[in-house]
Amino acid sequence: MDFWESDDLAEHREAARAWVEANVRPEWVDEQRRSGCHQTMELHALLARDGILAAGWPPQYGGGDVDPGFAAAVFDECARLGLHFDGWATTVMVLHTVQHVGTEAQKRQYIPAALRGELLIALGYSEPDSGSDVAAAKTTAVRDGAEWVVNGQKMFTSTAQVCSHVFVLARTAPDAPKHKGLSLFLVPTDAPGFEVQPIHTLGGQVTNATFYTGVRVPDTALIGEADQGWSVMRVALVYERGVSSPTSVERTVADDLAAWAREARRPDGTAVLDDPLVAERIGRIAVEEEVSRLLGRWMNWNAAKGGVPGPEGSMRKLFWSEAGQRHFSEALDILGAEGLLAPEAPGAPAGGMFEHDFRNAVVTTIYGGASEVLRDIIAERHLGLPRSRPSL
Ligand SMILES: Cc1cc2nc3c(=O)[nH]c(=O)nc-3n(C[C@H](O)[C@H](O)[C@H](O)COP(=O)(O)OP(=O)(O)OC[C@H]3O[C@@H](n4cnc5c(N)ncnc54)[C@H](O)[C@@H]3O)c2cc1C
Repeated sequence: MDFWESDDLAEHREAARAWVEANVRPEWVDEQRRSGCHQTMELHALLARDGILAAGWPPQYGGGDVDPGFAAAVFDECARLGLHFDGWATTVMVLHTVQHVGTEAQKRQYIPAALRGELLIALGYSEPDSGSDVAAAKTTAVRDGAEWVVNGQKMFTSTAQVCSHVFVLARTAPDAPKHKGLSLFLVPTDAPGFEVQPIHTLGGQVTNATFYTGVRVPDTALIGEADQGWSVMRVALVYERGVSSPTSVERTVADDLAAWAREARRPDGTAVLDDPLVAERIGRIAVEEEVSRLLGRWMNWNAAKGGVPGPEGSMRKLFWSEAGQRHFSEALDILGAEGLLAPEAPGAPAGGMFEHDFRNAVVTTIYGGASEVLRDIIAERHLGLPRSRPSL
């Protein structure tokens, strides 16, 4: 059975390919690699123009009549070219959170604007001293009349350089226990006192440190209740792990590797793919890629049934990210010295994708919940195993 073509997007793939052919400029892939910014605003505007961002959202919040299957197929086709949509992925997570915990006015203010492509939201949770232990955030927000004043620093605020807002986790009750005095705000990046500085990562992605010095936001920027931010964060984090990001179908390493091995020759003139050990290793990669994809479809299916996603998002993120690291390591092993050629190098196999993605894979087991933390979540919340550490 060919799962690839029997999937529920199959009927939309032809139309999606035609959309991509007509609208997507191939140089955007190189541009993302060169700039390290995993969000192309020109493409984002086109996705908004054609109602692809709005697909599947309720009409009262700006949802349109584009078929969500077509929209997903467009994102998949773009992802297969190597394009990322990190800014839109984080925006979707926040929109779902607003939909769950926001006021009616906030839903009508933020969701339609984002679906029109006018609002893009980065996640401002991590700080220099708190990542996995996100509730230890030290950034503060103090009420001043009908406004809040935000002060502090966030680390790894990815795509903030192109976003209109950051979803900032701030301490609003400094004397309350760690998980009890937090709140979340949608902070505009053009507000006075906001500053963004790039952080270059091993994977080529440029993320950011963001600084907040006396940044003023109105009370309407508070998402959820004041001091109840931990329960808002729980919804947001579940969406981060559990909702399909638009790039839900990964490029297949096995396909690219097999294409290279079919052409590449050993010194004795035989094709690399004729080596049964190479074929077996590529076969194992293909199997794990299929498992990742099916875990993604399981997750999407559960999400489509409504409600907040369950632990399947953590399971999929853990498997996908760790398998990806194994795959690129295997790929470089099979490719030998050629595999080290970077995307700019002439003759680099698969346009240098193996070298680039090997580096990029390193960070995938850190962001969106580090592997150790995800294992804890699966063990405790899914399997019901006892906690391995004292409750704080
Ligand atoms: C490329 C990139 C992009 C990112 N983008 C964003 C973003 O957009 N917004 C944002 O807010 N953050 C972002 N992050 C931050 C990311 O979420 C954190 O790096 C992550 O949560 C880990 O936090 P830390 O770096 O402080 O490491 P730590 O939390 O200090 O972890 C260090 C090590 O200790 C382990 N560890 C920690 N706690 C436990 C535990 N309880 N049990 C067992 N092991 C544990 C971890 O698994 C890890 O191996 C990004 C990070 C990267 C690398």
